[in-house]
Amino acid sequence: MCCCPRAGLAGGKFTIYQPIPLYRKFTADHIFTGHQILSGNEVLITDQSGKVLDMVPTELAGDGIQYFKGMLSPGFINSHCHLELSHMRGVIPRHTGLVEFVQQVMGKRTVSAEERLSAMQAADQELYDTGTVAVGDICNTTDSIEVKKSSALRWHNFIEVSGFVGAVAQKRLDAIKDVAQAFLQSGSAEGVSLVPHAPYSVSEKLFQLLNEETAHQLISIHNQEAEAENELYKTKSGDFLKLYQNMGIDISAFQPTGKSSLQSWLPYFTQHQSIILVHNSFTSEDDLVFSQLPTANRKLPTVFCLCPNANLYIENKLPPIELLLKHDATIILGTDSYASNGQLNILEEIKTIQQENSFNIPTVNILQWATLNAATVFGWDDELGSFDAGKRPGIVHIDGLDGVNITKDSVARRVTT
Ligand SMILES: [Zn+2]
Repeated sequence: MCCCPRAGLAGGKFTIYQPIPLYRKFTADHIFTGHQILSGNEVLITDQSGKVLDMVPTELAGDGIQYFKGMLSPGFINSHCHLELSHMRGVIPRHTGLVEFVQQVMGKRTVSAEERLSAMQAADQELYDTGTVAVGDICNTTDSIEVKKSSALRWHNFIEVSGFVGAVAQKRLDAIKDVAQAFLQSGSAEGVSLVPHAPYSVSEKLFQLLNEETAHQLISIHNQEAEAENELYKTKSGDFLKLYQNMGIDISAFQPTGKSSLQSWLPYFTQHQSIILVHNSFTSEDDLVFSQLPTANRKLPTVFCLCPNANLYIENKLPPIELLLKHDATIILGTDSYASNGQLNILEEIKTIQQENSFNIPTVNILQWATLNAATVFGWDDELGSFDAGKRPGIVHIDGLDGVNITKDSVARRVTT
């Protein structure tokens, strides 16, 4: 199973072609398959398009094997990004807190179309080069369609709506449906769904309308990124009141529930949605248990998407990973946008998780969050997430390891197939 010499006629003349290899063979000190880490004696065999054919012991693999120092992994999935904010790298200072951050994003997101386009193209390239093969991307506008049309990545576009005043809910929904329609017509996305921005920016009425619009769909929401979000729902107090005041938003109709934000809004969704909760820095154990209670109405238990570098950037607070593990929560990873991250590189999120937590999380588990877990959540597991035969998951080379552990010097690069 190595090479196939071919000969044939071209332009009426007999031509000898160079041998065309049918297969590509890869090995490394360690291979993360999507399920486990194999060390030392396995060879991954793909066809020329990168489709996985087999994993065999070295002695059966023949010649022409490409060796990598370190580890090979299936391609990463970035489950939470905002490609259209790519021009905002370094624009907002660190540790402002969420309320100030949100105000600055709204005030500074407008730049020329050319700047936006070139920043998005560079971001798309960085995602590819650092091993990402697919993205769950938040969209407020149609800005990213052109880049996605020619991107080598797969995209699920979460078309995001906000509006904390009930009277504007239908108008906001109608406007964002036009954006969703543009994505659907462009053919640039494999998945499109309407999603709420965050509990502090979506009214009860808008949640109810979104519930009706998203039956059986995959949706996402920024969840409990700041304690102020819980204060708002529990007692109608905290920093978000300042935000509404600064923006001239009348919240007199909003009634506090006496509960955390998650326990207040999650019951609005009753149409078998699968819900990705993004951030979760201020999610309590009670919230976690509440979110996992079996209901007749949700298709899957909720999924927790962690973006630790963005959390450190804005609030300097990490999500409760130990609690999530204790309750067997489904975890996936994202980078958020350049507005709150220096890079869109999933390996940097993995590094932060390993370095900032005092308890040990096995590398195999974190790599699963970035690969097979996310592929399953997005419904891409027929192609992505593992080196199972028949998939075309992309290959990432991770170098600079300590055994199988990711270190601060580890680097991820896409292996071109
Ligand atoms: Zn975000």
